[in-house]
Amino acid sequence: MTTALPKKVLVGPLVFDVAAVAGAKDWGLTDLQAGTITLRAGMTPEMQRWILAHEVMHAALFASGVMDDANDLTLTEEAWVARTSPLFADALQRSPGLAEFLAGAA
Ligand SMILES: [Zn+2]
Repeated sequence: MTTALPKKVLVGPLVFDVAAVAGAKDWGLTDLQAGTITLRAGMTPEMQRWILAHEVMHAALFASGVMDDANDLTLTEEAWVARTSPLFADALQRSPGLAEFLAGAA
């Protein structure tokens, strides 16, 4: 089964263009300023799903209003999950092909 990387991820009020780029330095990178999510090209489908989910979580955290305190270790696990889960669910619901891709059904 082929995997079709979603072209866009919608997270709350934000829109990210998604692309796989050969030779990218990082496995995945969410550029909040540019509105892009970049994955390194050439990963297995399983790794792509994992890395894209990771990057969408970064986008969800940012969309929740967390910016400068993103590395604030005083927040509880429950606080982080409470902030990100509504936006992660929003992204899955509104981003064409995202849920199917992450489920391995794309
Ligand atoms: Zn990360």
